[in-house]
Amino acid sequence: MNDAFPAGTRLDPYSAAFVEIVKEWVEHRFSHIVAELKHLVTYPSLAFEGYERAPLEASADAVVTLLQKLGLQELQQLTEHGSDGTASGPAIIGRRPSAANKPTVLLYAHHDVQPVGDRAAWNTDPWEATEINGRLYGRGTADDKAGILVHYAAIQALEELLGADHGLGLTVFIEGEEEIGSPFFSQFLSRHKELLEADTIIVADSANWSTDVPALTTSLRGLLDGVIEVTVAEHPVHSGLFGGPMLDAITVLSRIIAQLHTPDGELAIPGLEQSRWAEVVYDEDDYRSQTGAVEGFRLAGKGTLADRMWNKAALNIIGIDTKRISEASNSIVHTASAKFSLRLGPGMDPQKTMSALTNHIEAMDNFGATVKTYPGEAGKPFVVDGGAPYSRMMKQALTDAWGSEAIEIGLGGSIPFVAELAAVYPEAEILLTGIEDPDTRAHAPNESLDLSVLRHAIEAEVLLLARMAYDVVE
Ligand SMILES: [Zn+2]
Repeated sequence: MNDAFPAGTRLDPYSAAFVEIVKEWVEHRFSHIVAELKHLVTYPSLAFEGYERAPLEASADAVVTLLQKLGLQELQQLTEHGSDGTASGPAIIGRRPSAANKPTVLLYAHHDVQPVGDRAAWNTDPWEATEINGRLYGRGTADDKAGILVHYAAIQALEELLGADHGLGLTVFIEGEEEIGSPFFSQFLSRHKELLEADTIIVADSANWSTDVPALTTSLRGLLDGVIEVTVAEHPVHSGLFGGPMLDAITVLSRIIAQLHTPDGELAIPGLEQSRWAEVVYDEDDYRSQTGAVEGFRLAGKGTLADRMWNKAALNIIGIDTKRISEASNSIVHTASAKFSLRLGPGMDPQKTMSALTNHIEAMDNFGATVKTYPGEAGKPFVVDGGAPYSRMMKQALTDAWGSEAIEIGLGGSIPFVAELAAVYPEAEILLTGIEDPDTRAHAPNESLDLSVLRHAIEAEVLLLARMAYDVVE
């Protein structure tokens, strides 16, 4: 019981007065929340192979310590094991069962992060969150340790503003291996399906349109990757003695790669029709400055920028294995391979696309070289209905928190576990909210979080939870 929500005379959580109360609460607690976030950032929580596991475990322990402050009734760490002895990144789950007739919300974030990459490219220590001009720099400040703090603060606010008898079911799930594609997630879901059962799922791991305009992400592209391998001879041969009649494998591979796009940069693989169109205009200057495109570099493909980034397929070559320049000798390179990353727009099927790509390569005239295509990871695209009840509530909460109309956006990236959640819990509405903005640079050096975005993301989540708790008591 408290001033904001005296029992029996509950203040309407849709009212302007309540929005003010939530903003004051966040304002009052904000330095404490940021301090907790800074602490989580100190752990180099990498789930990638080849990195020490101890910091990842320590990070999970730190998340447990944080969530313990919420008084959740069931709080545990869960690690899945594979038959080959491998282990999942440690996940943390905490629950508060719902009262009769009240819905349950699953709050998702992840505590593992991306490697720092080129350390010299960082202006600050990636493992020490540093505040500069309203932004917090460091690995995981945004992706996705800020997501953990949004859920933490929102639950705390809910309990303090509504009283502990609000009745809303809450499940916090903090994953420990999202950045490596959640390899154990389906195993986890098949063993613990009932633990994550919810009416709606809030995934705080996406982006906003800008620091001033909040967004709900309603589509994610799928992902398909694999390797194209070209072999022209059984062994390398002298390029002086035999060069001329024989093209080297690098040249043949390059010709294949060149034919994956039309001359204007449109993807040339047939059968990848766009089925969704973005409603917003993505500014070309913004795109250029965000990507650091060199002066005069022409943008590829057709259609609006937003559609090219969210709704159409996109292929990039992300690595090549062949002779290194430092080891180059005068010989004809006999084999070379390239790894491709193919993003799939909403409605596109990974398996069908893989066959279409293989057929497209086989139809090329590759001088009869042996060309093999090996499929790698595959993840389906994901679409939510922005007009569904909880999505509408979330957009209203975002609008009230930011004081600026929330919009629906797509995300060019893929979040593999989201499609799995949707498949396992088809009845649950999945809300992709975010703590990122276009300057966040997630996964890159100098990742940062805009602190006003963090503040509004918390406010919006408190509003949504309070309204969910209130609506059903009426
Ligand atoms: Zn993330």
